[in-house]
Amino acid sequence: MKPLPNPMGCGRCGIDRSVHAIQAGSEGSHTWQRPTQQQIKDRMLARRAEGKS
Ligand SMILES: [Zn+2]
Repeated sequence: MKPLPNPMGCGRCGIDRSVHAIQAGSEGSHTWQRPTQQQIKDRMLARRAEGKS
């Protein structure tokens, strides 16, 4: 089962703030970053679409 996107997940990697540590990524390590309004909106729409299928 594919995990649903977390609307309030990190703006860079999508991990929830409560479990986000310093994540190593292709662009270097980063801490949790607030997602933009657009990212939140996109993820909520993706969740909704996922729920329908
Ligand atoms: Zn992150």
